[in-house]
Amino acid sequence: MKSISPIHVGSNAERTKLHNRQVVLQCLRTLQTAGRAQIARASKLSTQTVSNIISELQSEGWLLEAGRVSKGRGLPAIQYSIRPTAATALGMEIRSDAVFAAVVDLAGNTLASDRTPVTDSRPERVAAAVSKMKSSVIDKAKIPASSLLGAGIVMPGPFGRVGLSDAGQSTLVGWHDVDPQALFSRALNIPVVIEHDTIAAVFAERVSGHAIDLDSYAFIYFGTGIGLGVMANGQVLRGAFGNAGELGHVVIERGGNPCACGNSGCLETYVSRFSLHKHLAKNNIYVSDGNELEALYDAGNPHLNDWLDHASAPLAQVIGMVENLFDPQSIILGGAMPAPLLDYLISQITLAPGSIADRSDRLTPRVVRGKSGRMTAALGGAAIIINELFVPRIAAA
Ligand SMILES: [Zn+2]
Repeated sequence: MKSISPIHVGSNAERTKLHNRQVVLQCLRTLQTAGRAQIARASKLSTQTVSNIISELQSEGWLLEAGRVSKGRGLPAIQYSIRPTAATALGMEIRSDAVFAAVVDLAGNTLASDRTPVTDSRPERVAAAVSKMKSSVIDKAKIPASSLLGAGIVMPGPFGRVGLSDAGQSTLVGWHDVDPQALFSRALNIPVVIEHDTIAAVFAERVSGHAIDLDSYAFIYFGTGIGLGVMANGQVLRGAFGNAGELGHVVIERGGNPCACGNSGCLETYVSRFSLHKHLAKNNIYVSDGNELEALYDAGNPHLNDWLDHASAPLAQVIGMVENLFDPQSIILGGAMPAPLLDYLISQITLAPGSIADRSDRLTPRVVRGKSGRMTAALGGAAIIINELFVPRIAAA
């Protein structure tokens, strides 16, 4: 098994070596194909260091030779690229009613995915389901289990004991005293990272979505509620206790709709799957999944249209807020809200002119729908593992 964690690396020399490997891999990921001299220039490492790392990576099967490019005199330079299937990552999303799984390669391609309904979300049952799904997606993807770098497991936040923990409509039952990291490490037998759905969504777009070239962007994630993930200059914002981005409980209307968190006028009571389901139920329409919502939308259901028309103004309000707070290159919308509904919401919102994002030299749209659809969180879990391979987390000694 290949190690993804630099934590156990001992000496300074070993740490430097690992850091330089990550720098070279990250260069290759950005440049796609490059020769040794080009990597040395881009990485500011010496040509000798780059040559050593390239030889090592090549002998371990991480690289493809992509022909030679002739530049001026001398022997044409061999071009290298990352072999996408040199390693893979498993991503899983645990919801109270289903588990989603995906296997992703180093280029961000989804090799296989799967969904299993869960009727009993107690920890031991979920652990058993997760272990079974690991085997099934590995078989589907036709990869050896040894190619998995690790698993990114995505669960609904907030984590730990906070005042909001009973407010979530999607909270898993019976998980209060469970250490999910230990549970899933045992069930899967590979290194495991536990993450929020919103932060996973941020990484999903970075590995294979709109944010491949972006360093500062925000993701408004529709789960059952609504959350915000922020990437600021290449670093994801977590907050002191890992719960930053509870956008759903930002008050947008004083004395507005009562919310389960105890406040009134929270965004989640106007714009979320939960608020939509509640609005439909008031009109005796009951939907259980995204496909049924999409069918209602296609049929031009007036109650759904009514909700959409009332949701766009509060959504525009928080988009303006996020722009002014974080100055993102773009804001991406995605998650469990079906694509046609998101597209309609985006087409209906009037973006505030009084925003720092309203600038004439924009290269990216202010608001765009994400690319990964309802698998966003599971793909994001895998993307977190892949991202760790490329992004140096330790300084060179
Ligand atoms: Zn609230």
